[in-house]
Amino acid sequence: ALYGGERVNSAGVDLADETTLAELARSFAAGAGKRWQAVPLVGGHAVVGQPGLAVSNPAARGEIVGSVVEATVADVATAAAIAEQASAGWHATAPAQRAAILLRAGDLLEARRDEILALCIREAGKTWPNAVAELREAVDFCRYYGQQLKTGNFRDSATPPGPVACISPWNFPLAIFVGEVSAALAAGSPVLAKPAEQTPLIAALAVEVLHQAGVPGEVLQFLPGRGDVVGAALTADARVRGVVFTGSTEVARLINRNLAPRPGVRLIAETGGQNAMIVDSSALPEQVVQDVLQSAFDSAGQRCSALRVLCLQQDIAGRVSEMLKAAMAELVIGNPAALATDVGPVIDEAARAALCAHIETMRRRGRPVHQLPLPEACAGGCFVPPTLIEIESLADLEAEVFGPVVHLLRFDGRQLPALVEAINATGYGLTLGIHSRIDESIDAIVAAARVGNIYVNRNMVGAVVGVQPFGGEGLSGTGPKAGGPLYLPRLAETPVLSALD
Ligand code: GLU
Repeated sequence: ALYGGERVNSAGVDLADETTLAELARSFAAGAGKRWQAVPLVGGHAVVGQPGLAVSNPAARGEIVGSVVEATVADVATAAAIAEQASAGWHATAPAQRAAILLRAGDLLEARRDEILALCIREAGKTWPNAVAELREAVDFCRYYGQQLKTGNFRDSATPPGPVACISPWNFPLAIFVGEVSAALAAGSPVLAKPAEQTPLIAALAVEVLHQAGVPGEVLQFLPGRGDVVGAALTADARVRGVVFTGSTEVARLINRNLAPRPGVRLIAETGGQNAMIVDSSALPEQVVQDVLQSAFDSAGQRCSALRVLCLQQDIAGRVSEMLKAAMAELVIGNPAALATDVGPVIDEAARAALCAHIETMRRRGRPVHQLPLPEACAGGCFVPPTLIEIESLADLEAEVFGPVVHLLRFDGRQLPALVEAINATGYGLTLGIHSRIDESIDAIVAAARVGNIYVNRNMVGAVVGVQPFGGEGLSGTGPKAGGPLYLPRLAETPVLSALD
């Protein structure tokens, strides 16, 4: 895909290439004992002298990947004051220079490929292909937002937009962290970056790279820590003029409440989804099965775009669900450090417990549950095996179920409009999949659905920066879509120059 006619997306890493694989395996083994560190960086200085908390591998809880020193409320206040001071200077830095820094950051991230992939695997439980995708997306974000500045598609606001807090999730600990931060920097804001508490180490590496690329220490400050401490202090600080958040709908609500007394503060929130895939009887079953596996179980279902409710037209439901169960049985569950692994761990013990509680509730309600056995080797980690649960209506699902659990809902073809209405009525509106070979049906669903991203006759995850801008509506987020031309103008409150680049 082209960016403003010039830039292409990151090429990524070819995991089918033997030489590359051997290189990666060697450096992974060499770094296996490495302990990474994350410490707060305030005004370009590391906050030292406090004990670190251990960060462990979700696939093997006994393995310590590194340690994190969490920022305090006082660190947040100091950092906010420094950011406010740096605001005019960063806004006055020529857009071409800000662009050059971001483009350099993209190149530097690529140059640290081996460490980044290993850390995504060890700290976040990513499989190799997911780790590669993570690196690619982070690089793409730097290049895309840099390119928006370079091509002049985004033009600076007349006055400095002021400090922005970037609060990012653990499920894309590099890509979304870098996406949020690079966008705010591109738009002319100093950044106070708070990564998810589960994945501070990858974020610390990204911050190091951005500083190396030329972002001044006062312009990008790093505040790892808990949401209810660091996140709460950031969103309550009067010097923070914008918040970019990706995470749960529940936390987005809290942030919104925190910001309410300061109506001028911008908020971009990207939250969860109750994402459905509608499969009618004209769909190609083999393709459906492959796309369901990818959409529901890739990343152990820990994507906000992931498939949660598979809606199968009655006539084909039996056949497709049998094929799906057979295909599920082929999935390899285990430590993601092994290349053959399809489904790695969920992020932590709390996530595992919540998923198991949901599955138990469904069992108690008498809903048929089909779950793969958990291999013995998974005992030391936070694993939930891929699970398929037959539900009777969308009312069976209260909240988003964030993991490798997909729900199957059968529908009568004559009730299709009511089904789309019920999906809309969940209030979420992130992704929707459609599998059909009838154009009129596809068009009707597309016209009626209130969601951000619709995927037709393919899987419904892995939006590509600059090609498929990503974001939802309703309970799923405020928009604008990340990796699209409306994002920087929203951050800087400037007019959209071209929605096509
Ligand atoms: N952009 C990702 C995708 O399309 C999802 C982002 C998220 O989970 O927050 O799969």
